[in-house]
Amino acid sequence: MRNFKLHCKKGLPRCIFGAVSVLILAFLLSSCQQAAPPQAERVITKTVFAFDTVASITTYEAKDEPAAEKALASLAGYELLFSRTDPKSELYQLNAKAGTEVRVSDALFTVLETAWNLSEATDGAFDITLGAVSDLYAFGTEAPRVPSAEELAETLSHTGFTKIRLNPAEKTVLVTDPDLVIDLGAIAKGYVADCLKSDLIHAGVRRALINLGGNILLIGSKDGRLDPSAFTEASSKADGLFTIGIKDPDSEAPFLKLYLAGYSVVTSGTYERSFLRDGTLYHHILDPKTGLPVWNDLLSVSIVTSNSCLADALSTACFVLGETRSRDLLKQYGDITAIFIGNDRNIRRLSFASP
Ligand code: AMP
Ligand code: MG
Repeated sequence: MRNFKLHCKKGLPRCIFGAVSVLILAFLLSSCQQAAPPQAERVITKTVFAFDTVASITTYEAKDEPAAEKALASLAGYELLFSRTDPKSELYQLNAKAGTEVRVSDALFTVLETAWNLSEATDGAFDITLGAVSDLYAFGTEAPRVPSAEELAETLSHTGFTKIRLNPAEKTVLVTDPDLVIDLGAIAKGYVADCLKSDLIHAGVRRALINLGGNILLIGSKDGRLDPSAFTEASSKADGLFTIGIKDPDSEAPFLKLYLAGYSVVTSGTYERSFLRDGTLYHHILDPKTGLPVWNDLLSVSIVTSNSCLADALSTACFVLGETRSRDLLKQYGDITAIFIGNDRNIRRLSFASP
């Protein structure tokens, strides 16, 4: 007891001294941290040509540059999966073997299955079997052309997503019509963007902007403080967010600006791959029922949501469906916004919160 008191009396000042020392040390450490120069921001955009377009990744810290380079280098491998024109690609091989059952990679199967499900959900408005119809127009070449009604009818007879038979257990694909050509142009870039994002996050990247030809996917926020997702159109709330412009084909300035973290923004528009003939704009988003470009009142549709594969596929699907029919489709998803820009430059939005 005596000893205890003694210990106590002697111990108390030591405790206080100890606590004060810890506090001073903590203070010194924190002031050291404050005094140290902040990690210099180093904004670097690395660019390659892939998927027939310019692909880039912007990072904000020097340590992230090797990961960005590696991610961009991996695009060549994704082209070997999804390119429709490269004879070495898996998709090209699948198209060449139409009529027989083919075992495909997990990645190709996933994209085909996602596309197929969306075709079913849109009653065929989204359809990845229009490759041969697209080719008739020769979009993006020196000599684009308007196909004849006979050509369209004949080529259309070799389309239709129900001619693709998927076997998830075996990961096999059977295309029942040997003349059918699968084209993943409406969905593959989004899928690839998601893969790059996951690789970059694995490599420790906490903020970045992935841009695959206008197909945007963000990691974190621009200032690295916000976690994980945010979206506003109010510039007053834009602090620390990435600014993404929705393109106006008639102006240098964007149609509107979106401020975001984490999300993907993908736009489908009539101005991307198109040509004018006798005053009519022939563009690349086709109506699977007629094989003609979708001529509605729309200039573009942008989708904002977390998953870039979904955003990519839905931007095309909603363009074909138009605003009214898109409503029913979009409400199945949640945490999603669609921005419809009309030819009259009117902007309309559909937003659905998480269920
Ligand atoms: P996007 O730019 O993502 O809207 O994709 C448009 C591309 O998808 C076109 O260039 C065609 O390769 C292909 N495509 C055209 N019409 C459709 C459609 N109705 N459904 C699915 N893919 C389409
Ligand atoms: Mg698309």
